[in-house]
Amino acid sequence: EKADAGEPTIFDKIIAKQIPSDILYEDDTALAFRDISPQAPTHFLVIPKHRDGLTQLSKSEDRHEKVLGHLLHVASKVARQENLTHGFRVTINDGQNGCQSVYHLHLHVMGGRQLSWPPG
Ligand code: 5GP
Repeated sequence: EKADAGEPTIFDKIIAKQIPSDILYEDDTALAFRDISPQAPTHFLVIPKHRDGLTQLSKSEDRHEKVLGHLLHVASKVARQENLTHGFRVTINDGQNGCQSVYHLHLHVMGGRQLSWPPG
């Protein structure tokens, strides 16, 4: 996808349920669903349902502060629901150097095995 184009992404279709996904949590603000290409035994994404300019974290503005906090809270709740009691990782890939591929802000939550640090 084109960086920062602000064009619709595949996540809009997931939100609209035009394409199927394994949804773990949904409310008016956020959606959590399993990543189609899991990098850990448990790997899900948390996204804002209304992108509102949040193509990437580095584009966030003051009005986004509440939704950004909510996404982290949802990540924690779903991690608990998924029994990630031994820990997990929350990642945001931002822009080209961050290996972002979908320009609709999303948190990766990965767990269920010992992860390594630092990432490549
Ligand atoms: P990024 O590289 O932008 O941080 O991560 C995008 C993530 O979205 C990738 O981990 C990729 O596997 C996931 N993804 C891309 N398309 C789909 C899809 O259609 N369904 C689901 N569930 N995940 C997707």
